[in-house]
Amino acid sequence: MVPKKLLLCLCFISFNYFTTLCQSPNIIFILTDDMGYSDVGFNNGATDIATPNLDNLANNGTVFSSAYAVHPFCGPSRAGLLTGRYPHEFGAQFNLNDNEYVLGVDANETFFSKILQNANYNTGLIGKWHLGQSSVHNPNARGFDYFYGMLTGGHNYWTNSTAGGGYGGAYNRPLIKNNGPANEPSNVYLTDLFTDEGVAFIENAEANDNDPFFLFMSYNAPHTPLTALDSDKTALTSSPYNYSYTDDSRHNYAAMVYSVDRGVKKLVDALNTNGEINNTLIVFMSDNGGRSDQGANNSPLRGNKGDTYEGGFRVPMFMYWPGNVPAGATYSYPVSALDLYPTFVDLAGASVPNGKQIDGKNIMPHVIAGTNPRSGESIYSIRHRTINNVGIRRDNLKAFTSGNGRWYLFDLDTNISENNAQDLSNNPAYQDILEEMINDAYQWSLTHTEPEFFDSPGAETTWYDNNSSNNPSNTTPWQDVTFDGYTTLSIEGIHINTSNHGYIYPNPVQNSELSVKFTSPISGDISIIVYDTQGRPIQINSNLSHNSTDKLKISLNSNISPGQYFLRVRSSEGMFSKGFIVN
Ligand code: CA
Repeated sequence: MVPKKLLLCLCFISFNYFTTLCQSPNIIFILTDDMGYSDVGFNNGATDIATPNLDNLANNGTVFSSAYAVHPFCGPSRAGLLTGRYPHEFGAQFNLNDNEYVLGVDANETFFSKILQNANYNTGLIGKWHLGQSSVHNPNARGFDYFYGMLTGGHNYWTNSTAGGGYGGAYNRPLIKNNGPANEPSNVYLTDLFTDEGVAFIENAEANDNDPFFLFMSYNAPHTPLTALDSDKTALTSSPYNYSYTDDSRHNYAAMVYSVDRGVKKLVDALNTNGEINNTLIVFMSDNGGRSDQGANNSPLRGNKGDTYEGGFRVPMFMYWPGNVPAGATYSYPVSALDLYPTFVDLAGASVPNGKQIDGKNIMPHVIAGTNPRSGESIYSIRHRTINNVGIRRDNLKAFTSGNGRWYLFDLDTNISENNAQDLSNNPAYQDILEEMINDAYQWSLTHTEPEFFDSPGAETTWYDNNSSNNPSNTTPWQDVTFDGYTTLSIEGIHINTSNHGYIYPNPVQNSELSVKFTSPISGDISIIVYDTQGRPIQINSNLSHNSTDKLKISLNSNISPGQYFLRVRSSEGMFSKGFIVN
Protein backbone atom coordinates (compact mmCIF):
# COMPACT_ATOMS: atom_id res chain seq x y z
CA MET A 1 0.00 0.00 0.00
CA VAL A 2 1.00 3.57 -0.53
CA PRO A 3 2.31 5.20 2.65
CA LYS A 4 0.15 7.81 4.26
CA LYS A 5 0.50 11.40 3.30
CA LEU A 6 3.80 12.81 4.44
CA LEU A 7 3.49 15.81 6.66
CA LEU A 8 5.99 18.55 7.32
CA CYS A 9 9.01 17.32 9.26
CA LEU A 10 9.03 20.55 11.20
CA CYS A 11 6.13 19.34 13.28
CA PHE A 12 8.10 16.62 14.95
CA ILE A 13 11.50 18.11 15.58
CA SER A 14 10.85 18.19 19.31
CA PHE A 15 9.96 14.51 19.55
CA ASN A 16 12.29 12.24 17.67
CA TYR A 17 10.32 9.10 18.25
CA PHE A 18 8.81 8.14 14.94
CA THR A 19 10.25 5.12 13.18
CA THR A 20 9.10 6.56 9.92
CA LEU A 21 10.07 10.13 10.39
CA CYS A 22 7.48 12.78 9.70
CA GLN A 23 4.65 10.40 9.08
CA SER A 24 1.41 11.06 10.94
CA PRO A 25 -0.05 7.77 12.10
CA ASN A 26 -3.56 6.50 11.78
CA ILE A 27 -5.25 6.46 15.17
CA ILE A 28 -7.80 3.91 16.32
CA PHE A 29 -9.32 4.73 19.66
CA ILE A 30 -11.35 1.89 21.16
CA LEU A 31 -13.56 2.94 24.06
CA THR A 32 -15.60 0.37 25.93
CA ASP A 33 -18.58 1.38 28.06
CA ASP A 34 -18.70 0.62 31.80
CA MET A 35 -15.89 -1.93 31.67
CA GLY A 36 -14.28 -2.82 34.99
CA TYR A 37 -10.59 -2.42 35.81
CA SER A 38 -10.06 -6.18 35.99
CA ASP A 39 -12.25 -7.27 33.10
CA VAL A 40 -9.44 -7.79 30.62
CA GLY A 41 -6.61 -10.30 30.68
CA PHE A 42 -3.80 -7.78 30.29
CA ASN A 43 -4.55 -5.88 33.46
CA ASN A 44 -3.49 -8.74 35.76
CA GLY A 45 -7.16 -9.27 35.61
CA ALA A 46 -9.80 -11.53 34.37
CA THR A 47 -9.58 -15.23 35.01
CA ASP A 48 -13.06 -15.78 33.56
CA ILE A 49 -13.03 -13.43 30.55
CA ALA A 50 -10.96 -14.22 27.48
CA THR A 51 -9.47 -11.18 25.72
CA PRO A 52 -6.67 -12.76 23.66
CA ASN A 53 -6.65 -10.10 20.96
CA LEU A 54 -6.66 -7.15 23.34
CA ASP A 55 -4.00 -8.91 25.41
CA ASN A 56 -1.83 -9.47 22.36
CA LEU A 57 -1.89 -5.76 21.50
CA ALA A 58 -1.41 -4.75 25.14
CA ASN A 59 1.50 -7.13 25.68
CA ASN A 60 3.19 -5.83 22.55
CA GLY A 61 2.47 -2.27 23.57
CA THR A 62 2.32 -0.31 26.82
CA VAL A 63 -0.21 -1.08 29.55
CA PHE A 64 -1.30 1.86 31.71
CA SER A 65 -1.97 0.70 35.25
CA SER A 66 -3.10 4.13 36.53
CA ALA A 67 -5.29 5.44 33.73
CA TYR A 68 -8.29 7.58 34.65
CA ALA A 69 -11.49 8.34 32.84
CA VAL A 70 -12.41 12.02 33.09
CA HIS A 71 -15.59 11.26 35.02
CA PRO A 72 -17.10 8.20 36.69
CA PHE A 73 -20.02 8.04 34.25
CA CYS A 74 -20.66 8.22 30.55
CA GLY A 75 -21.57 11.64 29.19
CA PRO A 76 -19.20 13.84 31.19
CA SER A 77 -16.42 11.30 30.68
CA ARG A 78 -16.80 11.51 26.91
CA ALA A 79 -17.26 15.29 26.93
CA GLY A 80 -13.98 15.60 28.83
CA LEU A 81 -12.20 13.20 26.56
CA LEU A 82 -13.15 14.94 23.33
CA THR A 83 -12.59 18.49 24.64
CA GLY A 84 -9.50 17.84 26.74
CA ARG A 85 -11.19 19.72 29.58
CA TYR A 86 -12.97 18.75 32.73
CA PRO A 87 -16.68 18.84 31.81
CA HIS A 88 -17.53 20.87 34.93
CA GLU A 89 -15.80 23.86 33.34
CA PHE A 90 -18.26 24.13 30.45
CA GLY A 91 -21.50 22.89 31.94
CA ALA A 92 -21.34 19.20 30.97
CA GLN A 93 -21.26 17.74 34.50
CA PHE A 94 -24.36 15.65 33.87
CA ASN A 95 -25.51 13.16 31.29
CA LEU A 96 -27.76 14.35 28.51
CA ASN A 97 -31.24 12.94 28.71
CA ASP A 98 -31.96 10.70 25.73
CA ASN A 99 -35.07 12.80 25.03
CA GLU A 100 -33.06 16.02 24.85
CA TYR A 101 -32.94 17.08 21.21
CA VAL A 102 -31.82 20.70 21.55
CA LEU A 103 -29.05 20.92 24.12
CA GLY A 104 -25.61 19.39 23.92
CA VAL A 105 -21.98 19.92 24.86
CA ASP A 106 -21.06 23.57 24.38
CA ALA A 107 -20.66 24.12 20.63
CA ASN A 108 -17.87 26.61 21.33
CA GLU A 109 -15.66 23.80 22.59
CA THR A 110 -13.48 22.45 19.77
CA PHE A 111 -13.34 18.66 19.87
CA PHE A 112 -10.00 17.09 18.92
CA SER A 113 -11.82 15.23 16.16
CA LYS A 114 -12.35 18.62 14.49
CA ILE A 115 -8.64 19.39 14.68
CA LEU A 116 -7.75 16.01 13.18
CA GLN A 117 -10.34 16.55 10.46
CA ASN A 118 -8.81 19.92 9.67
CA ALA A 119 -5.40 18.22 9.55
CA ASN A 120 -6.66 16.08 6.65
CA TYR A 121 -7.49 13.02 8.70
CA ASN A 122 -10.39 10.87 7.57
CA THR A 123 -12.42 10.80 10.76
CA GLY A 124 -15.04 8.28 11.78
CA LEU A 125 -17.10 7.49 14.85
CA ILE A 126 -18.76 4.11 15.17
CA GLY A 127 -21.11 3.49 18.12
CA LYS A 128 -22.15 5.61 21.05
CA TRP A 129 -22.16 9.41 21.08
CA HIS A 130 -24.23 10.83 23.97
CA LEU A 131 -22.99 14.43 23.58
CA GLY A 132 -25.93 16.09 21.83
CA GLN A 133 -28.41 15.22 19.11
CA SER A 134 -28.98 18.57 17.38
CA SER A 135 -27.37 19.56 14.10
CA VAL A 136 -24.78 21.66 15.93
CA HIS A 137 -23.98 18.98 18.50
CA ASN A 138 -23.98 15.69 16.59
CA PRO A 139 -20.82 13.89 15.43
CA ASN A 140 -20.84 15.34 11.92
CA ALA A 141 -20.86 18.81 13.47
CA ARG A 142 -17.97 17.97 15.79
CA GLY A 143 -15.33 16.79 13.37
CA PHE A 144 -16.43 13.36 12.25
CA ASP A 145 -16.68 12.83 8.49
CA TYR A 146 -18.56 9.62 9.14
CA PHE A 147 -20.85 8.49 11.93
CA TYR A 148 -22.71 5.23 12.39
CA GLY A 149 -24.32 4.47 15.73
CA MET A 150 -26.59 6.01 18.32
CA LEU A 151 -26.73 9.60 19.48
CA THR A 152 -28.19 8.52 22.83
CA GLY A 153 -26.63 6.98 25.92
CA GLY A 154 -27.19 3.40 24.90
CA HIS A 155 -28.89 0.85 22.69
CA ASN A 156 -30.23 -2.65 22.78
CA TYR A 157 -27.91 -5.28 21.39
CA TRP A 158 -30.15 -6.68 18.70
CA THR A 159 -31.00 -4.44 15.76
CA ASN A 160 -34.65 -4.00 14.81
CA SER A 161 -35.62 -6.64 17.28
CA THR A 162 -36.47 -7.26 20.89
CA ALA A 163 -34.85 -10.68 20.72
CA GLY A 164 -32.81 -11.44 23.78
CA GLY A 165 -34.60 -8.86 25.86
CA GLY A 166 -33.35 -5.34 26.39
CA TYR A 167 -34.75 -1.98 27.35
CA GLY A 168 -37.58 0.03 25.87
CA GLY A 169 -37.66 3.69 24.91
CA ALA A 170 -34.57 5.34 23.51
CA TYR A 171 -32.66 2.05 23.51
CA ASN A 172 -34.94 0.86 20.72
CA ARG A 173 -34.48 3.85 18.42
CA PRO A 174 -33.16 3.25 14.90
CA LEU A 175 -29.43 3.60 14.48
CA ILE A 176 -28.17 6.75 12.79
CA LYS A 177 -25.82 7.03 9.83
CA ASN A 178 -24.49 10.56 9.55
CA ASN A 179 -27.54 12.82 9.70
CA GLY A 180 -30.21 10.27 8.91
CA PRO A 181 -31.47 6.80 9.72
CA ALA A 182 -28.98 4.02 9.10
CA ASN A 183 -31.44 1.56 7.58
CA GLU A 184 -29.81 -0.98 9.79
CA PRO A 185 -30.06 -4.69 9.06
CA SER A 186 -32.41 -6.68 11.29
CA ASN A 187 -31.43 -9.17 13.95
CA VAL A 188 -27.75 -8.35 13.93
CA TYR A 189 -25.77 -8.31 17.17
CA LEU A 190 -24.78 -4.70 17.71
CA THR A 191 -21.15 -5.24 18.71
CA ASP A 192 -20.57 -7.23 15.52
CA LEU A 193 -22.37 -4.61 13.44
CA PHE A 194 -20.14 -1.88 14.87
CA THR A 195 -17.03 -3.94 14.23
CA ASP A 196 -18.03 -4.50 10.61
CA GLU A 197 -18.72 -0.77 10.23
CA GLY A 198 -15.26 -0.07 11.66
CA VAL A 199 -13.61 -2.47 9.22
CA ALA A 200 -15.53 -0.88 6.33
CA PHE A 201 -14.39 2.56 7.49
CA ILE A 202 -10.75 1.47 7.48
CA GLU A 203 -11.08 0.00 3.99
CA ASN A 204 -12.85 3.07 2.64
CA ALA A 205 -10.28 5.39 4.17
CA GLU A 206 -7.52 3.34 2.58
CA ALA A 207 -9.20 3.19 -0.82
CA ASN A 208 -10.08 6.86 -1.14
CA ASP A 209 -6.89 8.79 -0.49
CA ASN A 210 -3.49 8.71 1.15
CA ASP A 211 -4.50 10.73 4.17
CA PRO A 212 -4.32 9.11 7.61
CA PHE A 213 -7.50 8.18 9.42
CA PHE A 214 -8.86 8.53 12.92
CA LEU A 215 -11.38 5.86 13.88
CA PHE A 216 -13.22 6.15 17.20
CA MET A 217 -14.68 2.72 17.99
CA SER A 218 -17.19 3.67 20.65
CA TYR A 219 -18.56 0.25 21.58
CA ASN A 220 -21.48 0.35 23.99
CA ALA A 221 -20.48 -3.08 25.31
CA PRO A 222 -20.41 -4.16 28.07
CA HIS A 223 -22.93 -1.51 29.22
CA THR A 224 -26.36 -2.82 30.17
CA PRO A 225 -28.71 -4.37 29.08
CA LEU A 226 -26.64 -7.51 29.58
CA THR A 227 -27.22 -9.22 26.26
CA ALA A 228 -24.73 -11.70 24.85
CA LEU A 229 -24.49 -14.09 21.94
CA ASP A 230 -24.99 -17.70 22.94
CA SER A 231 -21.98 -18.59 20.79
CA ASP A 232 -19.78 -16.22 22.82
CA LYS A 233 -21.09 -17.61 26.08
CA THR A 234 -20.41 -21.13 24.91
CA ALA A 235 -16.93 -20.22 23.69
CA LEU A 236 -15.98 -19.14 27.19
CA THR A 237 -17.16 -22.35 28.82
CA SER A 238 -15.52 -24.53 26.16
CA SER A 239 -11.92 -25.48 25.40
CA PRO A 240 -9.41 -23.88 25.61
CA TYR A 241 -10.94 -21.59 28.28
CA ASN A 242 -13.30 -23.90 30.15
CA TYR A 243 -14.43 -21.06 32.40
CA SER A 244 -17.34 -21.65 34.73
CA TYR A 245 -19.81 -19.10 36.04
CA THR A 246 -22.05 -19.19 39.04
CA ASP A 247 -23.68 -15.93 38.01
CA ASP A 248 -25.46 -15.49 34.69
CA SER A 249 -24.88 -11.72 34.78
CA ARG A 250 -21.15 -12.33 34.89
CA HIS A 251 -21.37 -14.89 32.12
CA ASN A 252 -23.30 -12.48 29.89
CA TYR A 253 -20.96 -9.63 30.71
CA ALA A 254 -17.90 -11.78 30.00
CA ALA A 255 -19.34 -12.80 26.64
CA MET A 256 -20.04 -9.14 25.77
CA VAL A 257 -16.40 -8.29 26.44
CA TYR A 258 -15.36 -11.33 24.43
CA SER A 259 -17.40 -10.03 21.49
CA VAL A 260 -15.47 -6.75 21.61
CA ASP A 261 -12.26 -8.75 21.64
CA ARG A 262 -13.34 -10.70 18.55
CA GLY A 263 -14.08 -7.36 16.93
CA VAL A 264 -10.65 -6.00 17.74
CA LYS A 265 -9.13 -8.96 15.87
CA LYS A 266 -11.12 -7.98 12.77
CA LEU A 267 -9.92 -4.38 13.02
CA VAL A 268 -6.31 -5.55 13.36
CA ASP A 269 -6.76 -7.93 10.44
CA ALA A 270 -7.99 -5.01 8.33
CA LEU A 271 -4.89 -3.01 9.28
CA ASN A 272 -2.66 -5.94 8.33
CA THR A 273 -4.44 -6.45 5.03
CA ASN A 274 -3.97 -2.80 4.18
CA GLY A 275 -0.35 -2.68 5.30
CA GLU A 276 -1.13 -0.14 8.01
CA ILE A 277 -0.50 -2.06 11.23
CA ASN A 278 2.90 -0.43 11.83
CA ASN A 279 1.55 3.01 11.01
CA THR A 280 -1.39 2.97 13.39
CA LEU A 281 -1.58 3.94 17.02
CA ILE A 282 -4.23 1.87 18.79
CA VAL A 283 -5.45 3.18 22.15
CA PHE A 284 -7.85 1.19 24.27
CA MET A 285 -9.67 2.26 27.43
CA SER A 286 -13.06 2.29 29.19
CA ASP A 287 -15.22 5.39 29.68
CA ASN A 288 -15.68 4.71 33.43
CA GLY A 289 -15.55 1.91 35.96
CA GLY A 290 -17.71 -1.17 35.94
CA ARG A 291 -20.90 -2.00 37.81
CA SER A 292 -20.39 -5.00 40.04
CA ASP A 293 -24.17 -5.39 40.21
CA GLN A 294 -24.14 -5.88 36.43
CA GLY A 295 -21.39 -8.42 36.04
CA ALA A 296 -18.32 -6.19 36.16
CA ASN A 297 -15.25 -6.61 38.36
CA ASN A 298 -13.17 -3.62 39.46
CA SER A 299 -11.10 -5.63 41.93
CA PRO A 300 -8.84 -4.76 43.68
CA LEU A 301 -10.24 -1.25 43.36
CA ARG A 302 -12.92 0.05 45.71
CA GLY A 303 -16.23 1.29 44.37
CA ASN A 304 -18.18 1.19 41.14
CA LYS A 305 -19.21 3.29 38.19
CA GLY A 306 -20.34 6.65 39.56
CA ASP A 307 -17.94 6.68 42.49
CA THR A 308 -14.84 8.78 42.98
CA TYR A 309 -13.18 5.82 44.60
CA GLU A 310 -10.71 4.26 42.21
CA GLY A 311 -13.25 1.72 40.96
CA GLY A 312 -15.38 4.53 39.57
CA PHE A 313 -12.91 6.08 37.18
CA ARG A 314 -9.63 4.14 37.09
CA VAL A 315 -9.90 2.01 33.98
CA PRO A 316 -8.01 -0.52 31.87
CA MET A 317 -5.91 1.09 29.13
CA PHE A 318 -3.16 0.31 26.66
CA MET A 319 -1.40 1.85 23.67
CA TYR A 320 -0.06 -0.18 20.77
CA TRP A 321 2.13 1.23 18.02
CA PRO A 322 4.93 -1.04 16.84
CA GLY A 323 8.35 0.56 16.94
CA ASN A 324 7.09 3.69 18.66
CA VAL A 325 5.22 2.90 21.86
CA PRO A 326 7.40 0.68 24.10
CA ALA A 327 6.49 -2.99 23.78
CA GLY A 328 5.93 -5.16 26.81
CA ALA A 329 5.97 -2.15 29.11
CA THR A 330 3.79 -1.15 32.03
CA TYR A 331 3.42 2.56 32.60
CA SER A 332 2.35 3.24 36.17
CA TYR A 333 2.30 7.04 36.38
CA PRO A 334 -1.22 8.50 36.50
CA VAL A 335 -2.63 9.51 33.13
CA SER A 336 -6.05 10.87 32.25
CA ALA A 337 -8.33 10.54 29.24
CA LEU A 338 -7.90 14.34 29.17
CA ASP A 339 -4.40 13.66 27.88
CA LEU A 340 -5.58 12.09 24.63
CA TYR A 341 -6.57 15.47 23.14
CA PRO A 342 -3.14 17.11 23.14
CA THR A 343 -1.45 13.77 22.46
CA PHE A 344 -3.50 13.02 19.34
CA VAL A 345 -3.36 16.60 18.10
CA ASP A 346 0.44 16.55 18.35
CA LEU A 347 0.67 13.23 16.53
CA ALA A 348 -1.45 14.71 13.76
CA GLY A 349 1.07 17.50 13.39
CA ALA A 350 -1.63 19.99 14.31
CA SER A 351 -1.97 22.58 17.05
CA VAL A 352 -4.47 23.32 19.76
CA PRO A 353 -6.40 26.44 18.69
CA ASN A 354 -5.38 29.72 20.27
CA GLY A 355 -7.35 30.37 23.41
CA LYS A 356 -8.57 26.78 23.72
CA GLN A 357 -8.08 25.63 27.28
CA ILE A 358 -6.66 22.13 27.74
CA ASP A 359 -6.52 20.31 31.08
CA GLY A 360 -4.65 17.29 29.73
CA LYS A 361 -1.03 16.81 28.73
CA ASN A 362 0.71 15.44 25.67
CA ILE A 363 1.85 12.18 27.24
CA MET A 364 3.49 10.47 24.27
CA PRO A 365 7.02 11.78 25.03
CA HIS A 366 6.57 10.60 28.62
CA VAL A 367 5.30 7.20 27.56
CA ILE A 368 8.32 6.81 25.29
CA ALA A 369 10.77 7.97 27.95
CA GLY A 370 9.04 6.41 30.95
CA THR A 371 8.75 9.74 32.75
CA ASN A 372 5.93 11.25 34.82
CA PRO A 373 3.86 13.88 32.98
CA ARG A 374 2.38 15.40 36.16
CA SER A 375 4.71 14.91 39.11
CA GLY A 376 3.20 16.81 42.04
CA GLU A 377 0.06 17.59 40.08
CA SER A 378 -3.41 16.21 40.62
CA ILE A 379 -6.07 14.47 38.59
CA TYR A 380 -9.52 15.39 39.89
CA SER A 381 -12.86 13.70 39.88
CA ILE A 382 -15.99 15.31 41.28
CA ARG A 383 -19.40 13.75 40.97
CA HIS A 384 -22.45 15.68 42.15
CA ARG A 385 -25.01 13.67 44.02
CA THR A 386 -26.88 15.46 46.79
CA ILE A 387 -23.37 16.32 47.93
CA ASN A 388 -20.05 16.21 46.10
CA ASN A 389 -18.08 12.98 45.84
CA VAL A 390 -14.48 14.01 45.22
CA GLY A 391 -11.37 12.03 44.37
CA ILE A 392 -7.92 13.57 43.97
CA ARG A 393 -5.05 11.51 42.61
CA ARG A 394 -1.57 12.94 42.99
CA ASP A 395 1.47 10.71 42.46
CA ASN A 396 0.95 7.70 44.75
CA LEU A 397 -1.63 9.46 46.95
CA LYS A 398 -5.41 9.61 46.72
CA ALA A 399 -7.65 11.95 48.70
CA PHE A 400 -11.33 11.14 48.92
CA THR A 401 -14.47 12.61 50.45
CA SER A 402 -18.08 11.66 50.01
CA GLY A 403 -18.71 15.40 50.22
CA ASN A 404 -19.40 15.90 53.91
CA GLY A 405 -16.01 17.46 54.60
CA ARG A 406 -14.52 14.27 56.05
CA TRP A 407 -11.47 13.64 53.92
CA TYR A 408 -9.50 10.43 53.67
CA LEU A 409 -5.98 10.00 52.36
CA PHE A 410 -4.74 6.72 50.92
CA ASP A 411 -1.31 5.66 49.69
CA LEU A 412 -2.27 3.66 46.62
CA ASP A 413 1.15 1.99 46.49
CA THR A 414 0.33 0.16 49.71
CA ASN A 415 -3.46 0.53 49.81
CA ILE A 416 -4.82 0.31 46.28
CA SER A 417 -8.21 -0.73 47.69
CA GLU A 418 -8.59 2.55 49.64
CA ASN A 419 -9.17 0.71 52.88
CA ASN A 420 -10.29 3.17 55.58
CA ALA A 421 -8.23 1.29 58.16
CA GLN A 422 -5.12 2.64 56.44
CA ASP A 423 -6.39 6.20 56.22
CA LEU A 424 -3.49 8.66 56.50
CA SER A 425 -5.53 11.84 56.90
CA ASN A 426 -4.76 12.14 60.61
CA ASN A 427 -1.10 11.27 60.22
CA PRO A 428 0.86 14.48 60.93
CA ALA A 429 3.40 13.60 58.25
CA TYR A 430 0.69 13.93 55.60
CA GLN A 431 -1.15 17.02 56.82
CA ASP A 432 0.56 19.49 54.52
CA ILE A 433 0.20 17.42 51.36
CA LEU A 434 -3.44 16.61 52.11
CA GLU A 435 -4.28 20.27 52.68
CA GLU A 436 -2.48 21.17 49.48
CA MET A 437 -4.35 18.55 47.47
CA ILE A 438 -7.72 19.60 48.84
CA ASN A 439 -7.01 23.26 48.37
CA ASP A 440 -5.97 22.62 44.78
CA ALA A 441 -9.26 20.82 44.20
CA TYR A 442 -11.12 23.70 45.82
CA GLN A 443 -9.39 26.21 43.56
CA TRP A 444 -10.26 24.01 40.60
CA SER A 445 -13.89 23.87 41.71
CA LEU A 446 -14.01 27.67 41.46
CA THR A 447 -13.59 27.29 37.68
CA HIS A 448 -16.81 25.30 37.37
CA THR A 449 -19.85 26.70 35.63
CA GLU A 450 -23.53 26.11 35.97
CA PRO A 451 -24.66 22.94 34.19
CA GLU A 452 -25.95 23.40 30.65
CA PHE A 453 -28.23 20.38 31.06
CA PHE A 454 -29.33 17.74 33.53
CA ASP A 455 -30.12 14.09 32.98
CA SER A 456 -33.32 14.39 34.99
CA PRO A 457 -35.57 16.98 36.67
CA GLY A 458 -34.54 15.46 39.99
CA ALA A 459 -30.88 16.22 39.34
CA GLU A 460 -31.76 19.80 38.44
CA THR A 461 -33.84 20.24 41.57
CA THR A 462 -31.08 18.82 43.73
CA TRP A 463 -28.49 21.08 42.17
CA TYR A 464 -30.40 24.28 42.68
CA ASP A 465 -31.80 23.40 46.09
CA ASN A 466 -28.27 22.87 47.30
CA ASN A 467 -26.62 25.67 45.43
CA SER A 468 -27.31 29.09 44.06
CA SER A 469 -30.72 29.58 45.61
CA ASN A 470 -28.92 29.56 48.94
CA ASN A 471 -25.43 30.72 48.17
CA PRO A 472 -24.91 32.45 44.83
CA SER A 473 -21.16 32.61 45.39
CA ASN A 474 -20.80 28.83 45.15
CA THR A 475 -19.92 27.29 41.82
CA THR A 476 -20.75 23.83 43.10
CA PRO A 477 -23.47 22.64 45.49
CA TRP A 478 -22.22 22.21 49.06
CA GLN A 479 -18.87 23.60 47.97
CA ASP A 480 -18.21 25.15 51.35
CA VAL A 481 -19.06 21.95 53.18
CA THR A 482 -17.04 19.74 50.86
CA PHE A 483 -13.90 21.77 51.27
CA ASP A 484 -14.50 23.11 54.76
CA GLY A 485 -11.55 23.37 57.08
CA TYR A 486 -8.92 22.69 54.43
CA THR A 487 -8.98 25.78 52.29
CA THR A 488 -6.12 28.09 53.02
CA LEU A 489 -5.73 31.84 52.94
CA SER A 490 -2.82 33.21 51.00
CA ILE A 491 -1.39 36.51 52.21
CA GLU A 492 1.69 37.85 50.49
CA GLY A 493 2.40 34.44 49.06
CA ILE A 494 2.43 32.70 52.43
CA HIS A 495 -0.05 29.91 52.97
CA ILE A 496 -1.60 30.22 56.38
CA ASN A 497 -3.80 27.74 58.15
CA THR A 498 -6.84 29.96 58.35
CA SER A 499 -8.25 28.36 61.46
CA ASN A 500 -6.10 30.88 63.34
CA HIS A 501 -6.97 33.88 61.24
CA GLY A 502 -9.90 35.13 63.25
CA TYR A 503 -12.40 34.30 65.93
CA ILE A 504 -15.84 35.14 67.21
CA TYR A 505 -16.12 37.16 70.35
CA PRO A 506 -18.19 36.94 72.41
CA ASN A 507 -19.16 33.33 71.74
CA PRO A 508 -21.96 32.42 72.49
CA VAL A 509 -23.29 35.31 70.49
CA GLN A 510 -25.23 37.89 72.50
CA ASN A 511 -28.16 40.06 71.43
CA SER A 512 -28.05 38.56 67.92
CA GLU A 513 -24.91 40.59 67.23
CA LEU A 514 -22.23 38.46 65.59
CA SER A 515 -18.72 39.92 66.06
CA VAL A 516 -15.78 38.58 64.07
CA LYS A 517 -12.33 39.66 65.19
CA PHE A 518 -9.39 39.28 62.83
CA THR A 519 -5.80 38.52 63.74
CA SER A 520 -4.70 40.48 60.67
CA PRO A 521 -6.60 42.80 58.33
CA ILE A 522 -8.47 41.45 55.33
CA SER A 523 -8.75 43.74 52.34
CA GLY A 524 -11.26 43.64 49.54
CA ASP A 525 -14.88 42.58 49.62
CA ILE A 526 -15.75 40.23 52.44
CA SER A 527 -18.67 37.83 52.60
CA ILE A 528 -19.89 36.27 55.82
CA ILE A 529 -22.04 33.18 55.44
CA VAL A 530 -23.82 31.53 58.36
CA TYR A 531 -24.57 27.81 58.12
CA ASP A 532 -26.70 25.52 60.21
CA THR A 533 -25.38 22.16 61.37
CA GLN A 534 -26.73 20.51 58.22
CA GLY A 535 -24.39 22.70 56.18
CA ARG A 536 -27.20 24.81 54.76
CA PRO A 537 -26.41 28.50 54.28
CA ILE A 538 -29.03 30.46 56.21
CA GLN A 539 -27.67 34.00 56.12
CA ILE A 540 -25.34 35.71 53.69
CA ASN A 541 -23.87 39.17 54.17
CA SER A 542 -21.75 40.14 51.19
CA ASN A 543 -19.86 43.18 49.91
CA LEU A 544 -18.58 44.00 53.39
CA SER A 545 -15.30 45.82 53.81
CA HIS A 546 -13.12 45.83 56.88
CA ASN A 547 -9.43 46.53 56.48
CA SER A 548 -8.74 46.26 60.19
CA THR A 549 -8.23 43.86 63.07
CA ASP A 550 -11.15 45.41 64.91
CA LYS A 551 -14.41 43.58 65.32
CA LEU A 552 -16.64 43.31 62.28
CA LYS A 553 -20.24 43.22 63.47
CA ILE A 554 -23.30 41.93 61.68
CA SER A 555 -26.81 41.35 62.97
CA LEU A 556 -28.15 37.84 62.80
CA ASN A 557 -31.51 37.46 61.10
CA SER A 558 -34.33 37.44 63.62
CA ASN A 559 -35.51 33.99 62.47
CA ILE A 560 -32.24 32.31 63.53
CA SER A 561 -33.17 30.26 66.57
CA PRO A 562 -30.90 29.34 69.49
CA GLY A 563 -28.48 26.54 68.67
CA GLN A 564 -25.16 25.68 67.10
CA TYR A 565 -23.99 27.25 63.83
CA PHE A 566 -20.84 27.96 61.94
CA LEU A 567 -19.77 30.80 59.74
CA ARG A 568 -17.45 31.21 56.84
CA VAL A 569 -15.59 34.44 56.18
CA ARG A 570 -14.66 34.73 52.55
CA SER A 571 -12.71 37.38 50.70
CA SER A 572 -10.67 37.52 47.53
CA GLU A 573 -7.75 36.42 49.69
CA GLY A 574 -9.36 33.20 50.82
CA MET A 575 -11.61 32.08 53.62
CA PHE A 576 -11.85 30.64 57.08
CA SER A 577 -14.61 29.17 59.19
CA LYS A 578 -15.59 29.04 62.86
CA GLY A 579 -18.27 27.43 64.93
CA PHE A 580 -20.48 29.49 67.24
CA ILE A 581 -23.52 29.26 69.43
CA VAL A 582 -26.60 31.44 69.56
CA ASN A 583 -28.26 31.54 72.99
CA1 CA B 1 -20.13 4.46 30.62
